Amino acid sequence: MLARVVNSLPHGLSQRLTRLYFRALVWNQRTSHSSQEHHQLKTMDVKILPALKDNYMYLIVDKATKEAAIVDPVEPNTVLQAVQDQGVKLTKVLTTHHHWDHAGGNEDLLKMQPGLQVYGGDDRIGALSHKVEHNSKFNIGNLNVQCLFTPCHTSGHICYFVSTPEEGSDTAVFTGDTLFLGGCGRFFEGTAEQMHKALIDILGNLPEQTKVFCGHEYSVQNLKFAAHVEPQNEHVKDKISWSEQRRQEGKPTVPSTILEEKQYNPFMRVTQKSVMQHAKSSDSIETMRAIRLEKDNFRG
Ligand SMILES: [Zn+2]
Repeated sequence: MLARVVNSLPHGLSQRLTRLYFRALVWNQRTSHSSQEHHQLKTMDVKILPALKDNYMYLIVDKATKEAAIVDPVEPNTVLQAVQDQGVKLTKVLTTHHHWDHAGGNEDLLKMQPGLQVYGGDDRIGALSHKVEHNSKFNIGNLNVQCLFTPCHTSGHICYFVSTPEEGSDTAVFTGDTLFLGGCGRFFEGTAEQMHKALIDILGNLPEQTKVFCGHEYSVQNLKFAAHVEPQNEHVKDKISWSEQRRQEGKPTVPSTILEEKQYNPFMRVTQKSVMQHAKSSDSIETMRAIRLEKDNFRG
């Protein structure tokens, strides 16, 4: 039937439809954008779960109690498979912001596993049960979670800082679309002042060894822009070649650390002379505004 319809169409159009059909098939069957990786820290275990075209979901496990939380579960089936494979107890959903590629799986996940607590800072988040604000705190087993309110990409964006009670132990931050490896999110619902506060005052003040798990695999594109802003920055050059190698192998480039971001991410470096000079400004907020605008139109 379909073949008959296609055959009755003008030749050019039927060829185009066939091409589209096969492209959709390939898209459906293709494996995810990166391999799944396990990131073992001392007290917590973070499973990196690639989703959609370039998103990341993260399964955070408290090793002591096997209690787990999932960050931005846009693909619920992948999440539940990982939960089953690891034999952990999923109790919480941490939503960074309301965009569909982060929060769009919440309702389906809740249908598959009722009773999960859904955290987030925005009423637009599906299935939200625990609305949080800056410095709200809760636990995943023995792990402590602190909510960091970082509005700008969206007006209700939350980053989640995870630590353990022991002094000097592991720390990790899940930054959604606020901080990316080498970049930051677009200012859809906020200002340069807000992103400056988020990156410099809030995330920039976390312990420097804190692991940064961001919402998308954008590292190579971001670092190309970083090289344009600071052509002499050796940290940028090194991270580009490392990231390109990782991507060729189909491996994720996350996590980075707060210290690394301060070395190569121009948006974390707006207080540095070299970045200000590039933006032709002596003010770090104006520099933030200028380089974000430039990045919006950058084709590296
Ligand atoms: Zn977003």
